[in-house]
Amino acid sequence: MSRGTRAIIDLAALRFNHQKVRQLAPNSKIWSVVKANGYGHGATRIAQALAASTDGFAVATLDEACELRQAGIDKPILLLEGTASAGQTGVACEENIELVIHNPEQLQWLVEQKKPARVWLKIDTGMHRLGISVAQVAEFAKQVSNQLHLTLVGIMTHLASADEPDNPQTDEQLAQFAQAQALLPNVQHCISNSAATVSLVDTHANWIRPGIILYGASPFADKTAKQLGFKPVMSLLAPVIAVRNIDVGEKVGYGGNWTAKRPTSVATLAIGYADGYPRHAPNGTPVWLNGQQVELIGRVSMDMITVDVTDLAHVELGDEAVLWGEQVSVDTVASACNTIGYELLTRRSLRVPLQFRD
Ligand SMILES: *Cc1c(COP(=O)(O)O)cnc(C)c1O
Repeated sequence: MSRGTRAIIDLAALRFNHQKVRQLAPNSKIWSVVKANGYGHGATRIAQALAASTDGFAVATLDEACELRQAGIDKPILLLEGTASAGQTGVACEENIELVIHNPEQLQWLVEQKKPARVWLKIDTGMHRLGISVAQVAEFAKQVSNQLHLTLVGIMTHLASADEPDNPQTDEQLAQFAQAQALLPNVQHCISNSAATVSLVDTHANWIRPGIILYGASPFADKTAKQLGFKPVMSLLAPVIAVRNIDVGEKVGYGGNWTAKRPTSVATLAIGYADGYPRHAPNGTPVWLNGQQVELIGRVSMDMITVDVTDLAHVELGDEAVLWGEQVSVDTVASACNTIGYELLTRRSLRVPLQFRD
């Protein structure tokens, strides 16, 4: 029997967000990014829900790609980091996974294994994480074209600062990428993550690679997903398992780091950092309970948190709190914790089961 703590995944909201992405970039194909288990939402179910409407799926690791193939997903799948060994390259080709090449070794593995493959060249335009330089593009493209079993599908790059529309780094990167585009005008071009999909129309090109906005969280520090028109897909819920009243001056939780300034009603919820609720959430972090916003008080424990429910008309065991979802966005909780929604969504632990709603 589950203790009631769970994450509800709203597949209708997911499809709505995908449709919204389509409207933002009507002339581009969409790689729906489902890496890290679909940003913690369950990659297989997310992919199944989008299979009819999207153009392909992008993942970070070969295991993630194979999981989708095993679930019967036959859409194009792009391995964003490419393969990590010759052995992986063989498996990826057998599973018909499109491969990013960002270093000479990956190209060599593809040359040697002789199986047909569709490949993308990843270009480092200034983020300096992955990719070949613009100066290397012509040589890599020639080597790929020399291999009859390889098809050069496109070139791509990743923007470091697309979430800050005024950051000059983006223009510098786009100028670099334009040089590569001029060298290879007849292949596909792909640049945009979620932030660029929303705010940099000029980067849409042939394909976009949105991730976080599909899940209804925001890529921007200063704009909420709601303002952007996206709906939260995950609601993280936990039941009340204890309620008590304490007096002025009494403390709550490990280290006693919260002290009651008024007679306080404290509810204990069945969720903690072992479930993926951030341990560094401070006093005052919002939680939604019985139609009202309440505040986290005391330190987050491994299995429980405590909230101040003094202002609620009614609380009883089994009442369900929303840690994040529609009423309190994951981005709000993340910003209280000095992190981003991406991290909270992907860190939900296996102890919290997913429940899917169509
Ligand atoms: C994760 C990732 C994306 C998606 O990023 P979002 O900010 O979630 O849209 C796009 N491209 C690459 C290369 C990525 O690694």
